Amino acid sequence: QAPPAVERRTTRSTCCYCGVGCGVLVHSRHDAAGERITGVEGDPLHPANLGRLCSKGRTLAETARSLHGRALVPELRHRRQDPRPPVDWAVALDSVADRLANIVERHGPDAVAFYLSGQLLTEDYYVFNKLAKGLLRTNNIDTNSRLCMSAAVTGYKLAFGADGPPTCYEDLEHAKTVLFAGSNAAWAHPVLFRRLEEARAKDPDVRWIVVDPRRTDTAAMADLHLQIQPGTDVALFNGMLHHLVWEGLLDQAFIDRHTTGFSELKRLLRDYSPRMAAEICGVPVEDLVTAAEWFGRSAASLSLYCMGLNQSVHGTDKNLALIHLHLATRQLGRPGAGPFSLTGQPNAMGGREVGGMATMLAAHREITDPAHRAEVEALWQLPQGSLPPQPGLAAVELFEAVRAGRIKAIWIACTNPAHSMPDLGPVREALQRAELVIVQEAFANTDTVPYADVLLPAATWGEKEGTVTNSERRISRVRAAVAPPGQARPDWWIAREVALRLEARLAAPGAAPLFAADTPAAIFAEHRALTVGRDLDIGGLDYAVLEQRGPQQWPFRAGAEQGDARRYADGVFATADGRARFHVTPYRPVAEPTSARFPLRLLTGRLRDQWHGMSRTGRVPALYTHSPEPALRMHPEDAARRGLKAGELVRVSSKRGGLVLPLELSDEVGSGTVFAAMHWSGQHLASGGINELSQPAVDTRSRQPELKHAAVRVERADFS
Ligand code: SF4
Repeated sequence: QAPPAVERRTTRSTCCYCGVGCGVLVHSRHDAAGERITGVEGDPLHPANLGRLCSKGRTLAETARSLHGRALVPELRHRRQDPRPPVDWAVALDSVADRLANIVERHGPDAVAFYLSGQLLTEDYYVFNKLAKGLLRTNNIDTNSRLCMSAAVTGYKLAFGADGPPTCYEDLEHAKTVLFAGSNAAWAHPVLFRRLEEARAKDPDVRWIVVDPRRTDTAAMADLHLQIQPGTDVALFNGMLHHLVWEGLLDQAFIDRHTTGFSELKRLLRDYSPRMAAEICGVPVEDLVTAAEWFGRSAASLSLYCMGLNQSVHGTDKNLALIHLHLATRQLGRPGAGPFSLTGQPNAMGGREVGGMATMLAAHREITDPAHRAEVEALWQLPQGSLPPQPGLAAVELFEAVRAGRIKAIWIACTNPAHSMPDLGPVREALQRAELVIVQEAFANTDTVPYADVLLPAATWGEKEGTVTNSERRISRVRAAVAPPGQARPDWWIAREVALRLEARLAAPGAAPLFAADTPAAIFAEHRALTVGRDLDIGGLDYAVLEQRGPQQWPFRAGAEQGDARRYADGVFATADGRARFHVTPYRPVAEPTSARFPLRLLTGRLRDQWHGMSRTGRVPALYTHSPEPALRMHPEDAARRGLKAGELVRVSSKRGGLVLPLELSDEVGSGTVFAAMHWSGQHLASGGINELSQPAVDTRSRQPELKHAAVRVERADFS
C-alpha cells in the first residue's frame, strides 16, 4: 500500500498584526487528513523586516492552528431573545439583504451603518465602501482605525494637503536624532525598533529622545526621556519651536518659499517660552532645550509617533505641532528626516486609501468636494449627484446614533466594539437596542458576538487573499496558505454576496453592475483605477507586479520601475498652491481633568506580546509569560498614600464605571498617574475591560476619541 501523499508548501504572506507589515513565509502541510499551517518564519526578502519577526509574528502558526472559538457556520435569529441557530449561507445572505433593504425602504439609507476594521484587507474594505456609499448611498461607514489613526490623517492633510507619511523605513537607518512621541515602539512596533537599535549601535552620534508620560521600555533606552504630564505634548512642541526660533535654527528660506502660516504661528509661540512650556509639561527646562537643540541641529531628525499623540481630543494639534518642528527646520524630504506616524493596525493605511471611512471618498478624495464626488460617480458609473454629499457618522457618534434609534442596522466586520470603543456602557446599550446587528467575524467568542442577530463566519489570516499597506506606504500581498475552516468565507466575498442581492432589489433598472469584480485581483484593479492621478497613484501596480517584484510603495505610477520612497523631497506639497501649511496650535488641557473625587490620571496602552482583544494572541501560552495577567500599575508613593500593597485587588473607577484589577507597583508611571493595558475585556474579567472607564470625548477635527486619558480614583476592592 502506497504511503499517503503529503505535500508541504511555503506561502509568502504578511503578518496580520501591527502596521510594520512584516513579510512572512508560511509553511503548511496538506494530506488526505486535511491541511494545516505548520510554521511561520520571517521573509528575508521583505523590505520591512528582512527576515526579522517579533514574538507575536513568530507565534502566528500556533494562533492559526487552533479552531477553538472560531465561527464556522452562519447563524441567524429573528428576535434578539431567541437562540441563534446555524443556517446555510444562502439563507443568511438572503436574510441580511432582505432586512437591510427593508430598513432602507422604511427609514432611508442613513438608517444603516457599517463598522469595519484596520485588520480587513484593502479588497475587503473596497467592497464594503462601494456597498455603503455607491449602492446604499450612505456615508455611515467607519472603522476602528478612527480610534487609532484619524488624528494622524487629519494632521497630514492639514499640513501637507494629503494623507500619508512622507517617510520610509530606510529613514530609520539614516536618522541622527530620533524623536519618539507617544510611541512605545519597543513593544508596539518591535521590528522597526530592532532596526533602530542596530542603526544606533553602528553610529555613536545617533540620539534618541522619548516623549512619554510613562517610562516605557522605549523611554528606558532613550538618551533623553521627557516624562511629560499627560496631554501636554502641544506645549512641549511649541516650546521646542520657540527655542528654535530664538536660536535661529530655522530654515527661513524654506519657510518663505514652501510654506504659509508661519508668522501667525510665531505670534502664538511668544506664549511658549521654554520655561513656560516646561512648566506646563512638568519637565526640566534644560531637557526641553536639549531636545530642541538635538532636533534642530541634527543632520537628520526623524519623529516616530503613535497613539500617545492620536488618541486625544487635541490629537490633530499634537500632530500639527510636531510637524511644525519638521517644516520649520526642513527636517523632511531627505534620508533620515521627517514626521513618521506609525500605524497600529496592519491595514489602517489601506482602509484610508479606498476611502473606507465616514469622512472620506475613494483614493483620498473628500466627500464634501463636488468634483471629487463626480469623479467617483463617473468611475463607478453612477448617475451624477448620486453620492451623498455629507460625511457620515464617525465611530463614537455612530454608536450614539444606534443607541438613539436613528441608525437601525449596524454591520460590524472584523472588530470588537463591545471591547474597543470608549465608554462601553452606552455602546452595549446601542447594540442591545439596534433593530439589526450583523457581525462578520472569524471568532465567535468576542464581546460583540452575543449581540449579533446574524453571525457571518469570516476567514482570517492564513486563509484569505488580498493586500495590505504598511506604515511606510508599502503594499504587500496577503496570501492563503490553507482553505478557511468550516463554512468561513473571505470578508470581500461575504460583502459582495450581500451587495449583489441588495443590488437586485435596490438598483435602478439598467444601472451598470457595481460588483462585477469577483476576485481579489479584480477588486484591486478597480481600486487602482480610482487612484490614477491622485497623490496615491498606483496606476503601475497590479497583482502580477506584486508577484514579480514583491511589495511596493505608493505612489507607483504607470510606467514606473518602483514607488516613491519619500514624498515632498522637492518642497512641493499636495496643497492647491504647493505650499505646506503651519497652523496655530495652542495648548489645551485634557478633556477630563482630575478632581477631588477622581484624582488620578489613567493611561492605557499595549503589552509587548498581546494584540488587541487577544482573539489570536490569547491562544498562545508563551505569550502570557511576559505579562501573565491584567494589572493596574501605580507609583509606589501613590500606593503607600492609600495604604495599598502590591498584588492586592483594587477598584479603579471613573465617572462611567468601575473595574477590579490586581495592583502592580511600578515607577514606570509618575506619581498621580496609573496605567492599565487595553487587551483584557469582559471575556477575561468579570468586571470588564479598561474601556468601561475611558471617555468618549472626541477631537472635533479628526473625531478620534481620547482613549489614552481619563480621571479615575483607586481604592481597595471591597467584596463585602
Ligand atoms: Fe507582526 Fe508587527 Fe511583529 Fe512584524 S513587528 S512580526 S508586523 S507584530
